Amino acid sequence: MSSREASFTSGEEGLKLKGMGTLKGRAPAFHRRPDLWRRVEELGRAAGEEVSALHEEPDPLPFRCWIYPAKGRGRAIPLFKVLLSNACKGHCLYCANRSGRDCPRWSLSPEELVQAFLRAQRAGLVEGLFLSSSIPEDPSRTMQQLVEAAELLRFKYGFQGYLHLKIMPGASEDLIERTVELADRVSVNLEAPGPERLKGICPEKDFSGMLRQIEAVSRFLEEGLGRARGQTTQFVVGAAGEADREFLELLPRLHQMGLKRCYFEAFRPVPGTPLEGHEPASRLRQRRLYQAEFLLREYGFRPEELVLDEEGNLPQDLDPKLAWAMRHPEFFPVEVNRAEPEELLRVPGFGPRTVSKILHLRSRGKLRREDLKGLPLKRAAPFIMVDGKTYGSPLVQTHLFG
Ligand code: SF4
Repeated sequence: MSSREASFTSGEEGLKLKGMGTLKGRAPAFHRRPDLWRRVEELGRAAGEEVSALHEEPDPLPFRCWIYPAKGRGRAIPLFKVLLSNACKGHCLYCANRSGRDCPRWSLSPEELVQAFLRAQRAGLVEGLFLSSSIPEDPSRTMQQLVEAAELLRFKYGFQGYLHLKIMPGASEDLIERTVELADRVSVNLEAPGPERLKGICPEKDFSGMLRQIEAVSRFLEEGLGRARGQTTQFVVGAAGEADREFLELLPRLHQMGLKRCYFEAFRPVPGTPLEGHEPASRLRQRRLYQAEFLLREYGFRPEELVLDEEGNLPQDLDPKLAWAMRHPEFFPVEVNRAEPEELLRVPGFGPRTVSKILHLRSRGKLRREDLKGLPLKRAAPFIMVDGKTYGSPLVQTHLFG
């Protein structure tokens, strides 16, 4: 433990830092306990997100590292995203909060967290809470603290809004069950696409144990316990030296287990960690994995159908659906009047919404070129036929398929 790492005790207010004096000068004027907001700010930063630019007006809170603009229902929903503590006994190689790294350590008690969140929520700055933590001691003890915060919110303060709770690796099943009862969304972060890859970057984490946690969540969700509507997971891309193929082969299993979404976070080297000299993973790789995950989950693609390079990675210069289409000229053009829905879904640029619009239009009679006006056809044009005639420019088709 470095000289800047503080030790922890359990007390009335939960985890408390010893030896941290009051921090002056940077806290918002309207807060009675400036040290609380300094900790919130640091723990928002530790949660790994950038300051949100959601609010243009003069800012009553000077830093706001704790606002996370989650995407949902066609808009960015501001969530209060913090760690309960950034002190950790773990040694994940990429992580800024790993044990032994020389950085200040901060904590909130469940009541402090709830007070800070409610204040921000009542000020209209956030609509929901995304709560996670590093693991200072026993994972079930940390999980218990997250559950305690959720119980305070739901039962003492009557908060009925959105709550996402992270499940700590190694947390007990009864706490997982309670988490599913309290939260709208829960997540177990797998970090890597298999046991060996995970051991290479997170020596203390157990891949099979985390899969069992995901299974337990699925079971509780199927039983209709509580209010959780789904679970997600997150991977760090490029930290373990893995290929995209490894993610793609794992994803169908996770989808079968009922995961709503898989998130991919491109690895960024953090100073003071064992991976500080490593190359960052590209954002484009992250994006291609998101696109491929979508194809597997929503478009009926199988992992072995996706085009990969010799190293087992998705090509970065083409999105995976276009790469597949260009590899399969025999499949195109697709006649929109006759094609099955799953065939239409293979057309670049067509998503489930466009396909259902086409099916709806088709139910009224044979489609002609002009019937497709208003549909997003820019990308799809070279790949479709309407009423026996190719839709896109023959030149483009020749360019694409030779
Ligand atoms: S468990 Fe690993 S990833 Fe999580 S905070 Fe600790 S070191 Fe970081």
